Amino acid sequence: MPEGLSTRCVHAGEFDDAHGSPHTPLYNTTTFKFASTADLLDVVDGRKPGSLYTRYGLNPTVQALEAKLASLEGAEMAWAFCSGMAAEAALFLAHGRDGIVCLGDAYGGTLELLGSQIGLLGIRTHLLLGNELELAESHLKDGCRLVFLETPTNPTLEVLDIRRIADLCHRNGALLAVDNTFAAPVNQQPLALGADFVVHSATKYLGGHSDLTAGVLAGSKELVMPVWNWRKNLGSTIAPETAALLSRSLRTLVVRVARQNLTAQAVAEAMARHAQVARVYYPGLPDFPGHELAKSQMRGFGGMLSIEVKGGGEAATRVADRLKLFALAPSLGGAESLVTQPCTTTHHGLPPEERMRRGISDAMLRLSVGLEDAADLIADLNQALG
Ligand code: PLP
Repeated sequence: MPEGLSTRCVHAGEFDDAHGSPHTPLYNTTTFKFASTADLLDVVDGRKPGSLYTRYGLNPTVQALEAKLASLEGAEMAWAFCSGMAAEAALFLAHGRDGIVCLGDAYGGTLELLGSQIGLLGIRTHLLLGNELELAESHLKDGCRLVFLETPTNPTLEVLDIRRIADLCHRNGALLAVDNTFAAPVNQQPLALGADFVVHSATKYLGGHSDLTAGVLAGSKELVMPVWNWRKNLGSTIAPETAALLSRSLRTLVVRVARQNLTAQAVAEAMARHAQVARVYYPGLPDFPGHELAKSQMRGFGGMLSIEVKGGGEAATRVADRLKLFALAPSLGGAESLVTQPCTTTHHGLPPEERMRRGISDAMLRLSVGLEDAADLIADLNQALG
């Protein structure tokens, strides 16, 4: 029987060292020496596993982390990158050259990479709304071979149907990549639902303490292996120190995320009752449009929610500025709660009409619920909204 997720968080990928360390030590090493040229060539030519050069990812600390990450996502293989954007860029370059469809809201940096930069290389990109599946299918029929989506999305928490979209992709000979940053493998396992790749900004829940920047790409060996050369030659491999820190953080992933799910639910319910809040976006609320779908593909609703403040953009800015426990900072998934106004941070680069088209109003505040007590977070929101 496969071990449970909490057990894998602690033990997967770890190997015993000669000194009995209970977890993989940090090999803060750029290169590794060999007893002979024959031994070196065995590793270089892939005949034997081994350590070689850290930028290649052939470093024991990095490889231990990657084995743990693959196990947590139920993947055959995972590569760790120096950031979430680095993982996305390598994926797009390795598998997106026939065209990329991005479905639904996504992190602003993803939209910028696809909308402004990847196109410069002559790669077609199509940024669609989450419900534009027919349009997506017409692009796939036209030769696009990669669909990228986030679910729940950033910042409207829209829930996209992974099974249905994976089926659409596969019927048309395309691959589906899911950014699982918001849900984390504790709440959602996209590969088990039919996706071909999982991408993470490990900077968020996987790291969990707002103290590291990293990314992940996971999937089958056949599909992930071709990304290796891109990572190697773009030079976007995770550093060993960061890999050790990330492995450390992953040991507590289930405990942290389970607590964040509970606290976010309590905060969302309190905000839904608040007179100054026009709307709450959280998949755990029974009247949220994506609730039933979320129940069918997620095991928990996550630690992210957005609220729309009555009074428009300026009122939302005032609330963000008055919050004390929620720090005004553009990230998520850490132990400390954070707030952002997407129109001034993550989605600032999008033209206002595009933000409107995507349902991202100026009055929206995105909350990343941390590990503080729910009552204290709700009290902080109440005083700021008051
Ligand atoms: N994906 C999501 C959902 C994000 O929120 C972010 C960053 O905020 C990224 C990807 C990019 O990750 P990184 O900042 O680690 O490059």
